[in-house]
Amino acid sequence: MTLSPAFATRKPVSFVIPSLPKAGEESAVRKNSRSLRRHPFPAGGPLFTRMFTRLGCSGRPPHFVVEFFPYAGLVHTIRLRDDVAFVRFSDLLQTAPPRVLESAAALLLARLFRRRVPAELRDLYREYSLAQHVRRRVHHLRRRRARRATLAPTGAFHSLEQLFDQLNRGYFAGSLRRPHIGWSARPWRKQLGCFDPALDQIVLSSRLDRPGVPRCVVEYVLYHEMLHVKHPLRRARCGLQAHSRKFRAEEKHYAHYAAARRFLLRLR
Ligand SMILES: [Zn+2]
Repeated sequence: MTLSPAFATRKPVSFVIPSLPKAGEESAVRKNSRSLRRHPFPAGGPLFTRMFTRLGCSGRPPHFVVEFFPYAGLVHTIRLRDDVAFVRFSDLLQTAPPRVLESAAALLLARLFRRRVPAELRDLYREYSLAQHVRRRVHHLRRRRARRATLAPTGAFHSLEQLFDQLNRGYFAGSLRRPHIGWSARPWRKQLGCFDPALDQIVLSSRLDRPGVPRCVVEYVLYHEMLHVKHPLRRARCGLQAHSRKFRAEEKHYAHYAAARRFLLRLR
């Protein structure tokens, strides 16, 4: 497959490990922070060229310019402009083994050139990104670098802080401390809510802040996120393996559970 003009887009292709909140809700890097630097990665060029061939991308590979970038999470991006591909690896990868760098490169290239990633590379990256020590570093990095989005707890139709307090009294005997809470700046398409322990915030998709969405639906999604506050893990939830059997059982305590679920099924 050759480089077609369709790929010569300014919009970077990126991927984030599963189960982290959306990157769009916050800036990647804190501004005015001198400690955050980019580091060129000269060996990255040959690495990408190698993976380009290994994935079976045909045609002449672009010239790869690779750097480590102080993203607020395990995020990597690639952006193609003319014959040059600009790659930014999360600077967490600076200490990663070469095989992990190869697999991350393969994932980026596969996105950009629409190739299949060999399963062993995909698994390798996944294993790395979910490893305890990596999760711990991502958590600390997010706490240091990610900025909480400015969120409005009072939406156009539903006030989340008020709902939180009511749910807290009704289902948690008032024992939950209230994290930052608010509506997403833009409606999310796939996710309805998220609790991010690193930022200590609950965000609900503003897609639910509409007149046609009954209060019990907003409450249910909020209650779900509150259960994540109650059962904290040191990583952002709502991704793979996020919900234990116990969690699911507790979720059903919500009075309008069935009605809310029915509504959400139709919403999708
Ligand atoms: Zn969840």
